[in-house]
Amino acid sequence: MAQKTETTMDKLVSLCKRRGYIFQSSEIYGGVSSIYDYGPLGADLKTNIKKFWWKWMVQRHSDIVGLDSSILMSPRIWEASGHVEGFTDPLVDCKNCKRRFREDLLQGDRCPDCGGELTEARQFNLMFKTFMGPVEDSSAIVYLRPETAQGIYVNFLNVLNSTRQKIPFGIAQIGKAFRNEITTENFIFRTREFEQMEMQFFVQPGTDMDWFEKWKANRQSYYKKLGVRPEKLRFHQHGEDELAHYAAAAFDIQYEFPFGWKELEGIHNRTDFDLKRHQEYSGKDMSYFDEASRERYIPYIIETSAGVDRTLLTLLVDAYEEQQLEKDMRTVLHLNPSVAPIKAGVFPLVKRDGMPELAQKITDDLSEHFKVFYDESGAVGRRYRRQDEIGTPYCITVDSETFENETVTLRDRDTMQQERVKIVDLFSILYKKINE
Ligand code: ATP
Repeated sequence: MAQKTETTMDKLVSLCKRRGYIFQSSEIYGGVSSIYDYGPLGADLKTNIKKFWWKWMVQRHSDIVGLDSSILMSPRIWEASGHVEGFTDPLVDCKNCKRRFREDLLQGDRCPDCGGELTEARQFNLMFKTFMGPVEDSSAIVYLRPETAQGIYVNFLNVLNSTRQKIPFGIAQIGKAFRNEITTENFIFRTREFEQMEMQFFVQPGTDMDWFEKWKANRQSYYKKLGVRPEKLRFHQHGEDELAHYAAAAFDIQYEFPFGWKELEGIHNRTDFDLKRHQEYSGKDMSYFDEASRERYIPYIIETSAGVDRTLLTLLVDAYEEQQLEKDMRTVLHLNPSVAPIKAGVFPLVKRDGMPELAQKITDDLSEHFKVFYDESGAVGRRYRRQDEIGTPYCITVDSETFENETVTLRDRDTMQQERVKIVDLFSILYKKINE
C-alpha cells in the first residue's frame, strides 16, 4: 500500500523549478526577492484557477457581474480608502545584524535571527509609488494598487447604471496587486506582486450579516469543490479587537501549510465605509434608491478576497505526495482535474506499427477541447511517472489492441488503474471526469 509522506517546502520548490511551475524572477541577474515568474505549467495552473473562480462566482451567479479595472488610478482613491494614511506595517530593525522584521509577526522582543536588540517600531507604508507623466514631482505620484477592491467601489455607479442589476448584487474582479511587504518568506505565500480574486457584494443595510453568513458558507464549499483536503482547512472569525477599521465582521479561511496555519481568503463585512468615503472624497452621490423598500441608502458591502498565488501554493502543497510503491517511489500531484495544467498525456506504446500517428491524431483531436501532451520518449512506465509528477490526471495509451477494436487504455493518476475505452468516447469520458 502506498505511504503518504509530509510535503516539505524544499521538495515542492525544487519540483516547481525542475518541472516548470514557478521560477525566481530575474534569476539570471541574481533574482529579485519575493517576486516570482510562472513557468509553462504554472501559467496554465494559474489560468485554470482563475477560470474556476470566475465560473463559480460570476458565470453561475446571475446577480454577480465582472469587472477589469486599471492598476493605476487616481491617487485620491487611496486617500479616501485610508491606504495613504494607514496601510502600514510596524517595522523594526535589528541593531546587530540589521535585518528588518514586522513587529506584529515577531514572537519575542529580540531579533529572531541573532538575538540582537531591536529598534523602536516605525510605521512603513506598503504601497509602491511611481510617477505619471514626464515630471517626477509629488503632484505626479500615483500608486500601484495594493488591492483590487477599490477599483470595484469607484465603478459602483458605472456598473449600476450600465446593467440591470439591483441590490443585492455583486461585482467580481481578478487582477494584480502590489505590496511592498517587509516579511517576504515562504516561497509564493507572501510576495510583492500578486493577483487577487475579489468579489464585492452590495446589500441593503440590516441584511448585511445574513449575507455575510451566506458568503462564508459559499466560500467554504468552494474550497471543498476545489478539492482541498478538509482536514487542512480551518475557519477563524475575528474577535472585536482583531477587526480592521472598516470591518464590522471578518472571517478567515486558513490552510495548514508546512510553515503553519495561514490565511488563504478573507470574508469581510465592510459596512458602508468605502462608499461613504468615496462619496466624501469625490463629491459624487453613492446612494441607491431601493424600489422594493422605497428607501434611499448607501449600500453595505460584503467582500470575499482570495489570492490567486496563495491558492496555487495551497493546491500544490495539498496535492503533493511521495508514494513508496512495491518496486519504486513515485511523486504525484493529486491536483483537481479541472485545474490541472495538462488534462491527459497521450502515448504510443512503441514508436512503430502506426501507433505514433494514431496517438498524434488523438492528441490533435483532444487539443480542441483540453490541454493534452503527446509523449513517445522512454518506457511507458516512465512516461506515466513524468505525468504523475506534474499532476496530469489521465494518460491515454495506443497499443496493438487499438488496431483490433479501436480502443485505448485510459489510466487514472490517483488509482493507477487502467480501463479500455473506445476512441470515439474519449472526449465525453474525459469531459465528464474533468468537470464532475
Ligand atoms: P496578511 O495579513 O497575510 O498580510 P491581509 O489580511 O492583509 O494579509 P487581505 O488584504 O485581506 O490580506 O488580502 C486578501 C487576500 O489576498 C489574502 O487572503 C491573500 O490570499 C492575498 N494576499 C494578500 N497579500 C498578499 C501577498 N503579499 N502575497 C500573496 N497574496 C497576498
